[in-house]
Amino acid sequence: MLQNKLADEQKVAYQILKNGLKNNSFVHAYLFVGEKGTPKMETAIFLAQSLLCDQEGFACETCDTCQRVKDGNYADLIIKDGTDSSIKKEDILNIQEQFSKTAIEAKERKIYILNMIENATPEALNSLLKFLEEPSEDVTAILICEQQDRLLPTIISRCQMIPFRKTLPNALLQKCRNENMNELDAYLLTYLVNNYEQISEIIEDENYQNARYLAISVLEKMILSVHEASLFLQIEGFKEKKGNDRAQFNYFIEILMRFFKDCLRKDCECQSEQWQELIRQYQKKNCVQMLSVCMQIKDKCNKSVNIKLLSDQLMAEIRRCSHE
Ligand SMILES: [Zn+2]
Repeated sequence: MLQNKLADEQKVAYQILKNGLKNNSFVHAYLFVGEKGTPKMETAIFLAQSLLCDQEGFACETCDTCQRVKDGNYADLIIKDGTDSSIKKEDILNIQEQFSKTAIEAKERKIYILNMIENATPEALNSLLKFLEEPSEDVTAILICEQQDRLLPTIISRCQMIPFRKTLPNALLQKCRNENMNELDAYLLTYLVNNYEQISEIIEDENYQNARYLAISVLEKMILSVHEASLFLQIEGFKEKKGNDRAQFNYFIEILMRFFKDCLRKDCECQSEQWQELIRQYQKKNCVQMLSVCMQIKDKCNKSVNIKLLSDQLMAEIRRCSHE
């Protein structure tokens, strides 16, 4: 049941939707925001079911209506997906035209779902804005995006925002633990990829192993001196003879980002004593800024820049924000 999954993994989204459905407070437009991989589309379908199903609150997921919504056979539900090709102005105008007519289904509620609206053309977004500005009682919009900052503020302000957070797949982590995998590897890799086969492959990969060694060493050395950590990385890090330096650097920066994110959270599921101790050591450090440095560097890593230079730049920036 999706309802249970939401309650477990997406607590904020679950509560907002639950309250809205309970009070029958119909919102004209919802905006689902969350990283790639979060269950936004599934939840959009589930919300559509819940708005149409005869059961109070969340949808039963089994009745004829719920089934047809899920299978894409519900006449008053239109879904446009901007993942592969952007949503065009004509798409919005078509929805508008179809929904200006009397509902086809008996429920008289019409719903449209637009996925990846940040990829819509500017003309499409303008038409959408006009559509949202003249809400009609029987039409509900569910808009989905990964990057909220690429949307017009005027669109955001007309929607009820529902945030989705990337969660750790606990079942997968548990499976790795049951297979006696090293706890820290299990934890880091569960975040990076989403199936056990890939995890067992990467764990053997020299690029990953070297990146993990470098990342943990750098974090340990940085407790005392970022300068020392930089020197270490210059000597030990990212030599092409040790495999693929770009792949290594990618793992390296992902591990650092995971670490700084964990430092900013109240609890972290990782049971590795080494990781937990490192987090304690960084409590008084400026982890927000270090995380943002890592994110900027990671962006550049996908472009064709020299990895050695990028690694030097990373350490220089971290040194600056730790005021050494
Ligand atoms: Zn139902």
